[in-house]
Amino acid sequence: MDQVTSAGPKPGLSDDAFALLQDIVGRKGALTVVDMLDDDAALRYRSFFPVGEMLIGLRFHENDPSRLGMRNGNTLKIVDGKIAVEPRRHMMFTPPLVPHRSEHIYGFWHINDEQELAMNLTLSETRRVTVLIEGFPKRGRRDRFAWFCTSCLNPLYMREVETGRVGLPGFYAVEEDAFEVFNSELSLRTCKRCGTVHPHAYSIFTWNDSEEQKAARAAS
Ligand SMILES: [Zn+2]
Repeated sequence: MDQVTSAGPKPGLSDDAFALLQDIVGRKGALTVVDMLDDDAALRYRSFFPVGEMLIGLRFHENDPSRLGMRNGNTLKIVDGKIAVEPRRHMMFTPPLVPHRSEHIYGFWHINDEQELAMNLTLSETRRVTVLIEGFPKRGRRDRFAWFCTSCLNPLYMREVETGRVGLPGFYAVEEDAFEVFNSELSLRTCKRCGTVHPHAYSIFTWNDSEEQKAARAAS
């Protein structure tokens, strides 16, 4: 009976379970908390930032008409040979290998080996945030930047990067190079099937926009 007050395994708890719980209680954990109203969060997660087994990205949207380029568009996905338009919802999943992009924000189709999750939260009357969550890129994971004809979805151009091997800097290097090649080659942007010319590609980084990219961003 005096066992109740002594430290050590209790009835119903094996030695192993007791040791595990004791170890967990004493662990030095690095807790990650994010205050969405803190400018530091916007800066740290403006691209993607590793948190344990996940990559987290935050995309803030202000209700400011002067920042037209970043206005909140729909999410587009290519499913069953067609472009499906998804209005913004609180939670949105993208399965692996489904081409997807956000209107006005990403002027290319992203094709990921992994599924992605996006959560849209309203922070105030003028401020919203999209929380992007995906697995930390493991070896072998590939990302693709792709363009399809805007009229007939004929594939035009694609670049692939093994993000699990080269990491995020490698990912962005390939993305930037893909844009440069695609935008400077009219023949790549011209559909071989129907002749439609694809507008210039653009990235989330609005401040780098050329005149052609500004026009493409506003139109699509
Ligand atoms: Zn076409």
